[in-house]
Amino acid sequence: MDFQLSGRTVLVTGASNGVGLATARMLLAEGANVGVCARDGDRLAAAFTDLGLEARSRLLQRTCDVLDAGAVGELITGLVGEFGGVDGVVNNAGGSLMRPPLETTDEQWVDQMRLKVLSVLNTVRAALPWLRKASGASVVNVNAILARQPEVRLAATSAARAALLNLSTSLANELAVDRVRVNSVCLGLIDTGQWRRRYETSGSPSDFASWTAELAADRGIALGRFGEADEVAFPIVSLLSPRSSYVTGATLDVGGGVARYV
Ligand code: NDP
Repeated sequence: MDFQLSGRTVLVTGASNGVGLATARMLLAEGANVGVCARDGDRLAAAFTDLGLEARSRLLQRTCDVLDAGAVGELITGLVGEFGGVDGVVNNAGGSLMRPPLETTDEQWVDQMRLKVLSVLNTVRAALPWLRKASGASVVNVNAILARQPEVRLAATSAARAALLNLSTSLANELAVDRVRVNSVCLGLIDTGQWRRRYETSGSPSDFASWTAELAADRGIALGRFGEADEVAFPIVSLLSPRSSYVTGATLDVGGGVARYV
């Protein structure tokens, strides 16, 4: 099936690794123009060195912290200068803070809120004039099942994710008049850099595969395993497609059945 993304322009934040990288690559394979950013420019550049010339001509790479509204504005200006507009935004950049609520400092609470909420406002505000001009514009917020199923050990991250989910609904309602769709993809446990880093610091005697299998059992993941970044990229790309034209304000869980709510 044709996702009708060829020639459209999409920004993917946090695309040097994991879900963002898999999404950017899938979009390039679909013929889209893709803007990518991350804070570490070297790692971002290294992530795309294997691309052929044609795909490379449709890729714009920029070092950018999504918390910096000015830098995000420059990123969008660069994307428009290169490809003529913006049709979609994937707000993927982020990370988590492993700490229970009372051990989380005030500053860490604020940082998590800034990372999960203000970063999304930064990209949406900067891209909005172009999204309004686009036909079938789409924003996808990469979120976590934690938003609706908080974990004590990830208290501030869970709360900030809940705020982002709430904001996504408000944005979907506010921007519907402009025909800009806004949807959320909520992740469970996905095998990316975040988990590789946790494994390395865990001191576990098991290899990575056994360690994730044990975690999957412990967390009660129905499918019994972590997800892969490509398994998240596909629903994101689907929501970006103009074929999803009647889907807005929706939340799609990609967690292998880890969610306990109905
Ligand atoms: P990774 O840690 O593998 O990659 C995160 C990416 O975001 C990197 O490219 C990183 O690059 C970039 N990034 C982080 N902070 C910023 C920032 N302030 N500005 C710009 N870029 C930034 O993450 P995942 O692929 O695992 O996760 C993707 C998203 O999904 C994240 O928002 C994450 O919180 C969320 N998620 C992931 C889960 C999982 O199990 N993997 C579970 C639930 C949610 P750099 O450091 O160079 O900036």
